[in-house]
Amino acid sequence: MIPGSFAYHRPTSVNEAVAMLGDLGEDARPIAGGHSLIPMMKLRLAAPSHLVDLGGLADLKGIREDGGDIVIGAMTTQHEVIGSDLLAAKIPILRETALLIADPQVRYLGTLGGNVANGDPGNDMPAVMMCLTASYQIAGKSGERRAAARDFYQGAYFTSLEPGEIVTAIRIPTPPVGHGAAYEKLKRKVGDYATAAAAVVLTMKGGKVASCSIGLTNVAETPLWAEEAAKILTGSSLDAATVKNAVAAAEAITHPATDARGPAAYRTKMAGVMLTRALARAQQNASA
Ligand SMILES: Cc1cc2nc3c(=O)[nH]c(=O)nc-3n(C[C@H](O)[C@H](O)[C@H](O)COP(=O)(O)OP(=O)(O)OC[C@H]3O[C@@H](n4cnc5c(N)ncnc54)[C@H](O)[C@@H]3O)c2cc1C
Repeated sequence: MIPGSFAYHRPTSVNEAVAMLGDLGEDARPIAGGHSLIPMMKLRLAAPSHLVDLGGLADLKGIREDGGDIVIGAMTTQHEVIGSDLLAAKIPILRETALLIADPQVRYLGTLGGNVANGDPGNDMPAVMMCLTASYQIAGKSGERRAAARDFYQGAYFTSLEPGEIVTAIRIPTPPVGHGAAYEKLKRKVGDYATAAAAVVLTMKGGKVASCSIGLTNVAETPLWAEEAAKILTGSSLDAATVKNAVAAAEAITHPATDARGPAAYRTKMAGVMLTRALARAQQNASA
């Protein structure tokens, strides 16, 4: 289908973008890679009167270290995430996850900022960001603020972003050297959104789990941080009985929709299967 008509704006600084969004009001939307927003506009599920293109904002590009954090500009594409040597060395789960998003065409234009700001429960990066204790740097007309990924998602396509605010960067505390991580995603075919997916980041000490964090994708209206499941695993050697208990705790917080990807009960079970696989692979990746 053809989208409704809209006016196109291309600011050249964050201040200009924020002022523009503030002036244009709630009928204006930022556009980044356009690979979620334009399909929504074509389906007439979104009909903004103004699109404010973030593509001209050089400040929103780049991946850098800042003290103990890694900061990724919101307009960094998924392709650039995959190609980053810094991320491959320090937070390899990001590359692994980005490679499971859509296809190369989408990843050349789709941005990390768009992926985390979109609020679609099918987006893969939000659960990974929750798992990594990431926060989002946000600019708006009343200044700058930070929001923890774990507090950001409030419902399907509903986040803590206020109208006129933009995510400028994603800030991730660098996981310790020797951590293990994995993202396991079940999809019906290459390029599909997850039927269910699980992210795990853990550290091991003396054969036991010293710390553990778990995120789940597309098994609720928001990405999920499976805090109780991670607590069950902490201190264990990831023996089969403890993993089974943790998986049951993770499954218990899911409430997926029944849709073309399968009935709710199946998707819940698949979240458990993905979590079991991600735990095993994260353990293999971790230094004991
Ligand atoms: C065929 C296909 C398959 C796909 N499969 C997957 C998949 O498997 N997994 C997955 O995670 N994604 C998938 N996607 C979505 C893709 O990853 C999108 O690129 C991503 O969701 C949005 O990023 P974008 O830069 O394209 O954002 P846009 O489409 O430009 O924007 C998306 C939304 O976020 C807002 N927004 C964008 N940037 C910002 C910002 N910096 N601050 C505030 N708001 C902002 C926009 O206003 C809009 O509401 C798929 C897309 C397609 C077309």
